Formats: sequence, C-alpha cells, structure tokens
Amino acid sequence: MKELRVNVEEEMETLRREILNCTKCGLAGNRRNPVPGEGSLKAEVMFVGEAPGVEEDRQGRPFVGAAGKLLNSLLESIGLNRTKVFITNVVKCRPPRNRPPRVSEIAACRPYLNRQIDLIDPKVICLLGNSAIKTLLSKEISVGEAHGEAYRKGNRLYMPLYHPAAALYNFNLKPMLFEDMERLRSLMRGEVKAIKEVPSSSLERQTKLYDVL
Ligand code: URA
Ligand code: SF4
Repeated sequence: MKELRVNVEEEMETLRREILNCTKCGLAGNRRNPVPGEGSLKAEVMFVGEAPGVEEDRQGRPFVGAAGKLLNSLLESIGLNRTKVFITNVVKCRPPRNRPPRVSEIAACRPYLNRQIDLIDPKVICLLGNSAIKTLLSKEISVGEAHGEAYRKGNRLYMPLYHPAAALYNFNLKPMLFEDMERLRSLMRGEVKAIKEVPSSSLERQTKLYDVL
C-alpha cells in the first residue's frame, strides 16, 4: 500500500473546486454538473475515459451509467473496485449530444488531468478508448492495435483498453476487455516484460516553451 503524501488530499480538494467552477472552455455552457473524477488518492491504477455522458452529467460522478456498470464488473474481475482505483475523464464536462471532445476542449482541460495524475502518481494509467489514448499516449496509436499492451512514456506506464461503452454496442469486445483486465493484473504484478516505449514528445514541450517566450 502506498503512503499518502502530505497535502495530496488538500490539493485534490482544491483541484475539485477549481473544476466545479471552471469556465475555461465552451463545454461549461452545456453541463449540468462537472465531473472531476473520484476514487482512492492512493490508487495504483487510474482509469481515464473520454467525457461525462448524460448520467454522469446528472450525478457529477464518472462512469455511473451503463458503461460504468461494465467498468465495475471489469474491476471486480481482477479483485478491484471503485474505492481502490481512481476514475476520471479527458474532459470534465459533458459535450453536447455526447459528441467527442474537440482538440481545443481537451487542451483547455488537460492541466486538470495532469494535476490529478501527478497527485495520485499511479503505477499504471488505463486509457479507455481513443480519446484517452491519443491525449495521453500518442496520436499515432489506436485502440484496435494497442488494447491490452503495456506502454511506457516518460516515467509512466499505460495500458490502452477498449472503452466499455464500445463493448455495449459490439458484443465481441466484451470478452476481449475481460482478457485485457488479466493483462492489467499481470502488469501490476510486474509480470509483463514486453513494454513498448513511446518517446515523450520533446517537440510538444518545445512548442510550449516557445509559446511562453
Ligand atoms: N463514458 C466516458 O468516457 N466517461 C464517463 O464518465 C462515462 C461514459
Ligand atoms: Fe473547464 Fe474542462 Fe469543463 Fe472545459 S471541460 S469547462 S476546461 S472543466
């Protein structure tokens, strides 16, 4: 069990309040409730989805609709539950009619996700579907080729997974998701040796630096 570093609780609460009051992108005008994310601050695994849907928007909590039920079963299949992991999304507010979040909205919301990752400092970040994969890992990687594989980028480990919502429409994906959870369990136990390296984008950082100058 990880020790909870001092101030993590306080800083997470500050972050939560910032998100609840945020108007940094156009999605602020469409939401009922922002959905900051929830779970253990000592989580060894973090799950990152795409964006809140209608039920999440209503309750202000992540993955509480049909996709959430499947996520709960996936967690239970490897002895986890929602109190042991941390669950959040790439953007914290629901896009109109559940359209995918835009690049500009993802960019506006990104600092919140970065801070959550820094505070929780998980062993593995599970990326649920292409929005999370392309935001946190690489634009060149898609879920079809990458699901269930382990990746390292910078000092972090990632595992792309099919989005549980996709498995609600495509029945073939469901058994695959459960198999991939077994791979996640192996990765957590340090049993996975094949870890693909993704170069952390120095170009991205240079652009940011350049913007600041
Ligand atoms: N889909 C997501 O990507 N996130 C949620 O919180 C719910 C459904
Ligand atoms: Fe702010 Fe993110 Fe919501 Fe946009 S999606 S308003 S950046 S919290």
